[in-house]
Amino acid sequence: MNVSWLVEKMVFRMDSPVVFDETLKSDLQAEAARLGFSVCGVAPVQPEKRREYYLKWIAEGQHGEMAWMERNIERRLDPGLILPEARSVLCLGMNYFQTEPSRRGRIAKYALGRDYHGLMLKKLKKLCHWLRLKGGQNRPYVDTGPVLEKPLAVRAGLGWQAKNTMLIHPKIGNWLFLGEIFTTLEIPPDEGVSDHCGDCIACIEACPTGAITAPYQLDARRCIAYLTIEHQGAIPEEFREAIGDRLFGCDECLDVCPWNRWAQATREEKFAARQYPDLREMLAWSEEEFRAHFRQTPILRLKRPRWLRNICVVLGNIGTLEDLPALEKAANDPDPLVAEHANWAIEKIKGRV
Ligand code: SF4
Ligand code: SF4
Repeated sequence: MNVSWLVEKMVFRMDSPVVFDETLKSDLQAEAARLGFSVCGVAPVQPEKRREYYLKWIAEGQHGEMAWMERNIERRLDPGLILPEARSVLCLGMNYFQTEPSRRGRIAKYALGRDYHGLMLKKLKKLCHWLRLKGGQNRPYVDTGPVLEKPLAVRAGLGWQAKNTMLIHPKIGNWLFLGEIFTTLEIPPDEGVSDHCGDCIACIEACPTGAITAPYQLDARRCIAYLTIEHQGAIPEEFREAIGDRLFGCDECLDVCPWNRWAQATREEKFAARQYPDLREMLAWSEEEFRAHFRQTPILRLKRPRWLRNICVVLGNIGTLEDLPALEKAANDPDPLVAEHANWAIEKIKGRV
């Protein structure tokens, strides 16, 4: 049992909310900016409007192996059930945009540097402390708990959920890490931002695997981000060539979005891209070497076999004869997942030359 959580639960029992005025709200936004948040909006505590869509999406299994999405569905769809005492939800975002270093094998921008969860949680806790001084009892979330963060961010006026299903902020674009604070304070909510996708379908056309099956609809099972990060087993052969040189995640439907043309590089140094050795060298890593290189990054949770699986797919698509010795060694890896993907890559390279 986490004692601080218990204490937080106890103090959350309040009978009447404290009403916050607009001046305090601008102070709150100034404090959020001072802590390093790029955006801060306030959503009312209301049930999710796209309930039927979400339930159908889950029922059709479009979330793939992400079983956690099936859990606590009612609470996900109604933030009021998460914390009945909460009167407002603060939605905060941190810009993580940066250009990718040029190297063999691409990593999605969100994973180029340090994992954001711990960093953002610390900042949210500092903001909770500030809110507590104003009379609020608060609970922070960073990709934790049954929180549907993008619809909440839309209601908090941070942007709109676009045809690529991502949140677009009119000035920052798609590149926002999101976190939330549920608070007993009654804070005036922000106005929503209308959908500005218009006639554009650039993201749908750019998706290498046809994962955006229609505007605003994503079949996660086809998405490269899902296949290279969430999917546990062998990557279905039908998608391997389309993965191209993407080692971890995919930014294709974000990179082509015209709303990202004004994106500015993040000022958070901890998100700065890390350097890694070439794919051939990484293919020979032990689990310990893998962990040492990816400590505190989002890639760590992949573990060695799936990282090597992804390297093999990329080498199968972009590798040369010089990569064959490393792949032949990987083809004898005791893990069958690595061995099978290495054999696939060897065949692909030999087929090309
Ligand atoms: S992340 Fe890549 S694969 Fe997934 S929907 Fe976007 S473009 Fe398609
Ligand atoms: S690429 Fe076009 S359609 Fe897709 S999210 Fe951006 S604006 Fe919307």
